[in-house]
Formats: sequence, structure tokens, C-alpha cells
Amino acid sequence: METERLLSNIRIVLVETTHPGNIGAAARAMKNMGLSQLCLVNPRDSFADKPPDKAIWRAASAEDVVNNAMVVSSVDEAIGDCQLVIGTSARDRRIPWPLLDPVECAEKVWVESVAGRDVAILFGRESRGLKNDELHKCHYHVNIPTSESYSSLNLAMAVQIICYELRKASHTVVEPVATEDRWDMAYASASELEHLFEHLERTLVQLEFHDPDNPRQLMTRLRRLFNRVRLDQMEINILRGLLTAINQKLPDADLSSRGEKSGH
Ligand code: SAH
Repeated sequence: METERLLSNIRIVLVETTHPGNIGAAARAMKNMGLSQLCLVNPRDSFADKPPDKAIWRAASAEDVVNNAMVVSSVDEAIGDCQLVIGTSARDRRIPWPLLDPVECAEKVWVESVAGRDVAILFGRESRGLKNDELHKCHYHVNIPTSESYSSLNLAMAVQIICYELRKASHTVVEPVATEDRWDMAYASASELEHLFEHLERTLVQLEFHDPDNPRQLMTRLRRLFNRVRLDQMEINILRGLLTAINQKLPDADLSSRGEKSGH
């Protein structure tokens, strides 16, 4: 079905899930709503030979989603080819990120799917959610509104709510004039952005603008800035070229700080 084909661009990523039953229940929640692409980052119980029995039992008739799950060893691998990355979180974080509720998240993600772009939605560990550095790889955070006295939902239930809103959003017709569809360049993928951030950090160290021993929140704030703009591939190439030009004009910071470039 057309809706199902479009929803298949949306990847649900479960990071370091402890209980295989939650993986099965998340798969069921996805299939009920027409999603099929499940990615597992380092699940605690091995999927090497076959998925754990508990995952299969809880999946019921969504066994196929569990069996077809992609299993990877890092968040970067899980999201590398995606042009939009969204992280779900039950808690406020020290440096706030652009925040969506589940309905706004679904509207945004649905526009992306219709435009044929790949999207990842990240879900964290049962015990402590997503780490800050994982959330900092995201364009947006989504919070499911809850009672103040208990904000943390069961993992699979959180997946259910996000997927239900996606299902509802998929009933809306997206006009091709939706502005983001008309951009002249492909958006940068998560791995292209990651390379840019590595290059930027290296260059700021070389400039002695950034001290890795006293980083404060510089790189976090720069990530937030660039993620807000949503760079395209041409803009990434220009910025990488600019950084390379700076690199070439500057002495190597490591060598000069050790005095090895003093004319010998
Ligand atoms: N104790 C953890 C929460 C873990 S719940 C913490 O304090 O962060 C497991 C996962 O379910 C979370 O990482 C998140 O992906 C999702 N989740 C649970 N409650 C949520 C909420 N209210 N809003 C958004 N995501 C939620």
C-alpha cells in the first residue's frame, strides 16, 4: 500500500535496549501502525544467530519486523544515511534542543517521507534514556507530554505513541509546494554532518580557539547551531573547503605547542 511504502522511509532506532521483550513489543507497535524499518544498536541480548525468544513472543504477528531488524554497533552506523534525525527524551536537558511534541514530530517526518528522504527516530535505554552526545546528533527532540509525577514511559509504549501519530499524519495529503520539498540541493546526511563537526573541532583546536581539556559547551552549541540550519550537501562542501583552507594557513597546533617547529 502507498502509505506503507512511504512509512518505510522511517527508521525506528532502539539504542542499547536491555529487555528483548521491549524490542518485540516495539516491533508490534510499529507494524500495527504500518512501519517496518527497525534498527537495533547493541541490544543487550545477542541477535547474532537469531533474535531472542522473548523478542519474538512479544512481537506476536510482527515477528517479521524483528527478524528483519538491522543490528549495528553504534548510533552513527544506525543514522549515517539519514537526512533528518529525531531523538525522543523523557527529560529536560541542560542545553535545550528544538523541541517537538508527537503531533509536530509526525507532521515533520511525514513531509520527509513523502519527499523520499530517510528519517531516523531514536529511542533510548530503559534505564537512562539517550546519552547527551546521542541527543546532540539530532535535529529535534520529541517529548511525549506526561504527568509531572512520572514522565518516563515504557520504551515500547513510547514507540507506540510516536508511530500512532505518524499513522494519523499519513492521512494528510502533503502538497508538493511544502517549502522543504523544493530545496535545490540534497540535505546533508548524518554522517556528512558528523565529518563536518570532526573537521570543525580539529580546526578550532588548531586555531587555539577551542581547548579540548576545557571544552565547556562549545561543540554542543555549534552542533545545535548547524543542526538548526539544516545544511545541504553544497553548504557542507563549502564549509569543509573553508576549514581546509584555514588548516593549510596555520601551523600544526600540536607541533608548535611542543616547540618542535622552532626552526629545527
Ligand atoms: N529513565 C530514562 C527513560 C527511559 S524510558 C530517562 O530518564 O531518560 C526509555 C525510552 O523511551 C526513552 O529513552 C525515550 O526514548 C522513550 N520515552 C519514554 N518516555 C518518554 C517521554 N515522556 N517522551 C519521549 N520519549 C519517551
